[in-house]
Amino acid sequence: MRQPFALTIIAILALLATAAGSTQPDSPEPTDSLSHIALHRSQPPAELLVPLEGEQAQVIKGLCVEDERRIADQLQSTQLHQRLLRVAVGEVEGQKAALVKFQAGDQLTGQFRLAAMEADASAALAAAFSADTDISHVDVWSVVPSEPNAGGQSHRPVFSLSTARSSYLALPYSIRSSRQVVRRLGVVRYDPLLLDYDPDNPSRNSVPAPLPPTAYTKSLVGYGADWQHILASNGRLPENTSEEPVASVMLHGTRRQRRVAITIDDGPCPLLTPLILQVLDRHQVVANFFVVGEKAEQYPQLLRDIAEAGHLIGNHTYHHRRLSRLSAQEIAAELDACQTIIGRLTGQVARYLRPPGGNYTADVLRCASVRSQTVTLWTHNAGDWANPPVSEIVQRCLAGIRPGAIILMHGGDINSVRALPLIIRGLRARGLEPGSLSEMHGPNCPELLTLDAALDLPQNGWQPDEVK
Ligand SMILES: [Zn+2]
Repeated sequence: MRQPFALTIIAILALLATAAGSTQPDSPEPTDSLSHIALHRSQPPAELLVPLEGEQAQVIKGLCVEDERRIADQLQSTQLHQRLLRVAVGEVEGQKAALVKFQAGDQLTGQFRLAAMEADASAALAAAFSADTDISHVDVWSVVPSEPNAGGQSHRPVFSLSTARSSYLALPYSIRSSRQVVRRLGVVRYDPLLLDYDPDNPSRNSVPAPLPPTAYTKSLVGYGADWQHILASNGRLPENTSEEPVASVMLHGTRRQRRVAITIDDGPCPLLTPLILQVLDRHQVVANFFVVGEKAEQYPQLLRDIAEAGHLIGNHTYHHRRLSRLSAQEIAAELDACQTIIGRLTGQVARYLRPPGGNYTADVLRCASVRSQTVTLWTHNAGDWANPPVSEIVQRCLAGIRPGAIILMHGGDINSVRALPLIIRGLRARGLEPGSLSEMHGPNCPELLTLDAALDLPQNGWQPDEVK
């Protein structure tokens, strides 16, 4: 194993050197050049890929076991240890180089935070350089699970950093031990598809993107010119004087078949959506993903992956904003911006709308009605926003379950992923088969109601998970 690995490291470092051009230690240039990303994207060598839930023994590569173990041991006391995927130390052109690879994302929420990723990198560098003074170069890779390839589980780099000991030691100690270290080292790469990172404007990373300029003007996916005309004329929806529009609302599916729907909201999430897709695939289950437009735009391949796996994609607005607080024009823009991105990436027209929080107003119902969208609520709430124990999620999803049930889960928490196979097994043990919302239509499912009648329905109400 030694020779192929050494060659691989040499190949990687050669590629990195080529990609990076001059690696001057002083230039704080977190570059997000696409060519660098492309190299990384195609590069994770098979030897470095390990199962996500690897044992400690699998984390250690076994080339310079003592050094590797020292690095892993030091990381035991950091936030990183549970997400550590690989520690490798090998000879590269006569010098010792280390590679530390770990899963990106916040341990509790599963979400990316730039600050957390930089802290991860800082911990990894400190552990690697202090393990052995002979280690002259360290690569840090922060990855997310990707679709399995022929070699098994594969990983997609979100963030990588490559630095020499001399550059590292040239930094003041106070910086070396803080997350600032990332900004001060030469070669740092972010995958712009996975992390919308702007090195010149770090604050942008925590500010929601504005609605795309096309949101109010672009021709809508699957809808006619009348709608655009209405919006353009006064920005308000017309009061319907002759005939009250009919709202389509799905509180549950038909009770006449032994079908239920698992709905997964708020994705796609780079850390967890691939895991969810794997679980669904393993159990041969079709689920329903209510996606947030801006996240779909940020992670287009994940949305395509969801569609290609045959799952239903629903509209969960562009910004995940609380529609009951918005004007009709804003509601329309939120729905259409999400619809547009779904259409552009998958060619699909989302026929189901889940308003964030489950709350809707007459304007929401009108907007959905004009777009032939069914406002889709739920009967069972996993309550997984608060990261409860897996057993609690499973219990909530299965309590009193019966045909036609709609289960609400969220795609941003690891416990939801852990609960999913248990929920699927529990449903099947009760003779229920999870499937697509579109297979659960029946008499009065969805219900076609006047707006007044629809507004009288019990809405699902405010929930803390929906606050953004
Ligand atoms: Zn939501």
